[in-house]
Amino acid sequence: MVISSRRCTPPALTQAIASLINREVAGADTLTAYRQPLLGFARADDERFEYLRREVEAAHVLPVDLLPGARAVLSFFLPFERWIVEANAAYPETVAREWAVAYVETNALIGRITAGLIAMLAERGIRAAAEPATHNFDPESLVSRWSHKSVAVIAGLGAFGLHHMVITDAGCAGRFGSVVIDAALPELEPSPLESKVRCLYFHDGSCRVCVARCPVGALDSALDGDSHIDKRRCYRRLLAVAEEYRSLGLVDVCGKCAVGPCAFGPAV
Ligand code: SF4
Ligand code: SF4
Repeated sequence: MVISSRRCTPPALTQAIASLINREVAGADTLTAYRQPLLGFARADDERFEYLRREVEAAHVLPVDLLPGARAVLSFFLPFERWIVEANAAYPETVAREWAVAYVETNALIGRITAGLIAMLAERGIRAAAEPATHNFDPESLVSRWSHKSVAVIAGLGAFGLHHMVITDAGCAGRFGSVVIDAALPELEPSPLESKVRCLYFHDGSCRVCVARCPVGALDSALDGDSHIDKRRCYRRLLAVAEEYRSLGLVDVCGKCAVGPCAFGPAV
């Protein structure tokens, strides 16, 4: 592990991380607009990473696999502005161009943020590593080697809803990025454990909007309360949308399940 006398004091480090994210988002030359980004931290040796690999996704790597000597993981969420969500909610079948553009632009923005964070941290003698914002999954098994959503939950940013999205304080309509670092300063103590239920279905069974909105029934089996998603059914739908928006690049996106009552904040 590289230790440098140029390391920041703890408050300055978190502030520097948050400032860089905010600066990149504010200065992003995108059609997409964002609400206030969220930032959370987890310990790299949090036992939930091991649980994730053991019980949920055997192919999921640990923070130390991404970065030997990893001490902490930071997770951030870039929530889309309301009009983007409303555009995608407006028509039941068609994915709004605004949503498709937001997917492409935000993936690129997350790439710029993580590259900027890695460079900024390197100047402070801190090593860091990151996985891309998307397409880090096996196309056959559809299992991610690094789930930004699961990392966000471990970092205290929110909780899974019935739709298998993470509902943060800013809702679920947006995208996540994460960075593994080899610093474990007091300020990077893990965010508090998230125990609050944020999904109305899990709270009292009163909402099934995401299930009803899914055009291919990929969430139908979620009604066993297990937050289950039929990944193959969902992915076929995403590839069909990608075909439609081929001119924008690889836009395998849909998000019809992410525009309901938990789009902008916890539904409970
Ligand atoms: S739309 Fe309703 S049921 Fe689906 S995740 Fe959000 S709150 Fe839960
Ligand atoms: S992204 Fe689209 S296809 Fe996949 S579960 Fe959500 S609504 Fe269904």
